[in-house]
Amino acid sequence: MPLFHNPRSVDPNSKYPLLVTHFSIIILIITSAFWLLNIIYLAQVPYAIFLGFMSIGVITFTLNKTGYKRIAKLFGLMAINLAVYSVASSESSETGMHLFLGAAAFAALVIYGYNEWYFGVAFMIFSLTLYFGCFFSDYSPLPERTFNQDEINVFFIVNSTCYAAISCYLFYLVLFTNHRNEQVLRENEMRINLQNEQLKKTNTELDRFVYSASHDLRAPLSSMSGLIAISEASQDLREVKDYLGMMKGRIKVLDKFITDIIHYSRNTRLELVHEKMELWKIINEISDGLQFAEGAEHISIINSVDQKMQISTDPTRIRMVLNNLISNAIRYYDKNKSNCMVRVESKLKEGNLLITIEDNGIGIPNEHQKKIFEMFYKATENSSGSGLGLYIANEAITKLGGTLEVISEVGKGSTFSIMLPNCVS
Ligand code: ADP
Repeated sequence: MPLFHNPRSVDPNSKYPLLVTHFSIIILIITSAFWLLNIIYLAQVPYAIFLGFMSIGVITFTLNKTGYKRIAKLFGLMAINLAVYSVASSESSETGMHLFLGAAAFAALVIYGYNEWYFGVAFMIFSLTLYFGCFFSDYSPLPERTFNQDEINVFFIVNSTCYAAISCYLFYLVLFTNHRNEQVLRENEMRINLQNEQLKKTNTELDRFVYSASHDLRAPLSSMSGLIAISEASQDLREVKDYLGMMKGRIKVLDKFITDIIHYSRNTRLELVHEKMELWKIINEISDGLQFAEGAEHISIINSVDQKMQISTDPTRIRMVLNNLISNAIRYYDKNKSNCMVRVESKLKEGNLLITIEDNGIGIPNEHQKKIFEMFYKATENSSGSGLGLYIANEAITKLGGTLEVISEVGKGSTFSIMLPNCVS
């Protein structure tokens, strides 16, 4: 799995095929307009010329769309230059047809862009050579056509207007692609900044992880080897049994620590999956699994979740989080109370699912409440845990797009609230 999710990868070269599409559509539009004009004014321009231009537009468009992008560029520019030259050289230069060669030169620069500027310049020189050829050469591949002055005037107005419109449009395309590139740059910058922040966080966490993990893994082991040493020296069976009990406690701590590390690793590595499930059943399964946990015999787990409620979310993560919060409520129960309980409720709030885990345990002092979601943070000296549980729970809920909050009062109890968006159908 990649370390970071890539929100949007934009290929800056994708603009060039788009420009070729625009280019071929412009050819089709202008040719259609001219054809229409030809019909209205009954000018004697042969249909073959319009069909020729239309074919250039269609072939360029098709080549480009079917993936032959380089050939589309080459063919489109070459064909349009030759076609415009053929028509322009066969009629009076007063019609202004040659102006389209100027537009073709500009189009070549825009289409090839900075990366392939040499192609753009080569086509520009080619277009300009043909442009001057219209004035200084008598060669024309098509038979000469003559128009009366009125027709020449109309053609000149139409040709120069089209030329101006195409130039403006090409200019707009350049501005538009620049603007798009700037946007892509800004997005990439934001993405890199975000990844940087995530990297810094991961690095700090890794440092703390290595330090705390090595310390917290070694602590129970060294206390166990101490307990083994004194039980070896002892002749009293009762004393040895006591030491064994203590060792069992240390093993439990070690086991909880390793389980937390596995949960941590699962949360960071596993892809998100969505599955439909009944929240009520999950809570029941978790409380069944915790019935033999230390202190569970003093606490009643009340499952007040709506039995019909179906949720759609990541099963591994939601189970991990709920298991953690309920087992915390059990571990931090108030020994001075006789009616110890933990109640799990759920309701819909503005389309989001709100799950609350409320207990009447020892509570968390105000100054610790914000920090308990940090890695390895323990709010009490007496915690036999790793200080990882709430950190992992918070990370998992964040991955699900939700939030995890706590309200707590020392001596009264704590309420953890999970808010999950779009998970109830
Ligand atoms: P730990 O493994 O120490 O329990 P957690 O991350 O699960 O680590 O919890 C962090 C700290 O928050 C705990 O050390 C404990 O002091 C406090 N805490 C968590 N849940 C509760 C609760 N339900 N009631 C009282 N204190 C709690």
